[in-house]
Amino acid sequence: MSLKSVNDILGILALETQREQQPFQQLLKYWPEVVGTKVALQTRPLSIQRDVLSVATASAAWAQNLTFQRQSLLLKLNTKLPQPLVNIRFSTAEWKRSPLLIPQEQTLSPQDHPSYLGENMFMSPVKNSRESANIAFENWARMKQERSQYLSLCPQCQCPTPAGELQHWGVCSPCRAKLINQGIADS
Ligand SMILES: [Zn+2]
Repeated sequence: MSLKSVNDILGILALETQREQQPFQQLLKYWPEVVGTKVALQTRPLSIQRDVLSVATASAAWAQNLTFQRQSLLLKLNTKLPQPLVNIRFSTAEWKRSPLLIPQEQTLSPQDHPSYLGENMFMSPVKNSRESANIAFENWARMKQERSQYLSLCPQCQCPTPAGELQHWGVCSPCRAKLINQGIADS
């Protein structure tokens, strides 16, 4: 078999795979647009088999809700898809295994943030009681003051700044935001 005919066959195979995937790929493209971002985050289209679309949902309530809206979703989707769907099945079964359609923002733990000051800084030193409201405020004000005393100063604006911010950026976060706005620092 010549190299050319191998390439021809590979070309045909690639085309066929493309054709098979196309309806589903197109559906993935239109899904968030048709259902809206809010619903798109709670759903993940899984496959199209015999013109029936399978969609994983984050919860049984979503599956139920969307099953009620199935007809209107079908109408909207079918105006966009080359091959009309006959039904949509919603189920929570595959939710955990299916990949995210819309990448969610990475969650950053507080400890990882440069502005993090440590656990103790956020704990009020006063117990909750009605008469201690004033004391609570005084303590809070004192704590804030004490906190700012041992924080380093931002070289730009001389404000007390968490060490993490200075370490990361050399300035406090408001100053950094200004620098980014001025195009001096990268976000
Ligand atoms: Zn500053």
